Amino acid sequence: MQLKGKIAIITGAASGIGREIALTYAQEGATVAIADINLAAAQKTADEIIAAGGKALGVAMDVTDEAAVNAGIDQVAAAFGGIDILISNAGIQIVNPIDQFSYADWKKMLAIHLDGAFLTTKAALKYMYKDNRGGTVIYMGSVHSHEASPLKAPYVSAKHALLGLAKVLAKEGAAHNVRSHVICPGFVRTPLVDKQIPEQAKELGISEEEVVKRVMLGGTVDGIFTTVEDVAQTALFLAAFPSAALTGQSFIVSHGWSMQ
Ligand code: NAD
Repeated sequence: MQLKGKIAIITGAASGIGREIALTYAQEGATVAIADINLAAAQKTADEIIAAGGKALGVAMDVTDEAAVNAGIDQVAAAFGGIDILISNAGIQIVNPIDQFSYADWKKMLAIHLDGAFLTTKAALKYMYKDNRGGTVIYMGSVHSHEASPLKAPYVSAKHALLGLAKVLAKEGAAHNVRSHVICPGFVRTPLVDKQIPEQAKELGISEEEVVKRVMLGGTVDGIFTTVEDVAQTALFLAAFPSAALTGQSFIVSHGWSMQ
């Protein structure tokens, strides 16, 4: 019960990595708000947690919509009495070479990955700064916060930018007992990645098997995918860590694909 009594809000938690973090946090005693653009799926995850004896709430939230973000965070704080942990995790992927990337898709990627991180942080800080209650903000970065790959200009740009946001928050938040981190996973088999495999095969003119073996796992030390459990355990460790000895940092979870 490493998070007993803590109140966590996790964006994009209806699926994949966010969902696993929600389940792990609930098992460790946290009350968990599952915020997602897909409310039905978010509620399903919340119901699963409640059925297992935990406390959870599904929250409708498009992280690019300032009013929806503020309303969702206010709803969680009103329901549970505050916010201790924010995981800014919602994300999508669109792959294309830069010369063919539409401006609309560029802006959509930046809006979800970067504006969403800013908006949810700002809304959560209102509660974390109150009486210096404090808290932990974790951004879901990527190995692409440190490395580049072809076809992913806005994704790589936004994931790099999260490192900057986390560092500023570490400095500003310290006086209010707020810490920040970026978790940087390698490839994890979620719907986000499954969708990319045929898309990358088409763009790069190689087979889907080659995309997995070469593009996704070629740089790892053992050819193995990172799992949602690996990322959730990292998120648990960081949220449970007792002091600001760890703040403003990024943690790469990638089977050695990136070592920094
Ligand atoms: P996923 O597709 O399984 O889940 C993403 C969730 O985000 C979905 O439930 C979706 O409904 C939600 N979402 C999308 N747009 C939203 C919006 N505007 N507002 C609110 N919710 C929205 O994907 P995942 O692989 O679990 O990805 C989660 C995060 O992890 C993303 O930020 C992604 O970039 C990052 N990441 C994933 C991998 C990977 O290999 N899967 C690797 C590194 C980083």
